[in-house]
Amino acid sequence: MTDCIFCKIAIKEIPSDIIYEDENMIAFKDVNPMAPVHVLIIPKIHMESMDHVTKKDSVLLGELLYKIKEIASLLGLENGYRVVNNCGEDGLQTVKHLHFHLLGKRKMQWPPG
Ligand code: 5GP
Ligand code: ZN
Repeated sequence: MTDCIFCKIAIKEIPSDIIYEDENMIAFKDVNPMAPVHVLIIPKIHMESMDHVTKKDSVLLGELLYKIKEIASLLGLENGYRVVNNCGEDGLQTVKHLHFHLLGKRKMQWPPG
């Protein structure tokens, strides 16, 4: 998608602080961190949100979720972490390219706001 900021990050048209990358996904630091560690994990191909995924995306998304523990380990999050997906208007999704937030190095709160 030509006007999508995360697609541009995925192809390095927009620079980011990359933590992990493979052929299917990229993980980079959030520009406005909400925790000492705040990384965004995205599929390289454009999909708008969790509400837009289809059955054919399930292998890729399973791989992406599976990789999160490796990324957490790379970042030293052995004491735990939080994975967040904001979806749609009520979920307060601001960037319309599916992404998971990985937050760590502080004690989280529950319930979320
Ligand atoms: P959302 O609110 O959609 O769940 O999360 C979008 C996230 O993307 C926000 O936490 C925001 O700080 C981050 N973000 C927006 N634009 C950029 C950017 O250009 N670079 C990086 N690294 N993060 C961004
Ligand atoms: Zn995109």
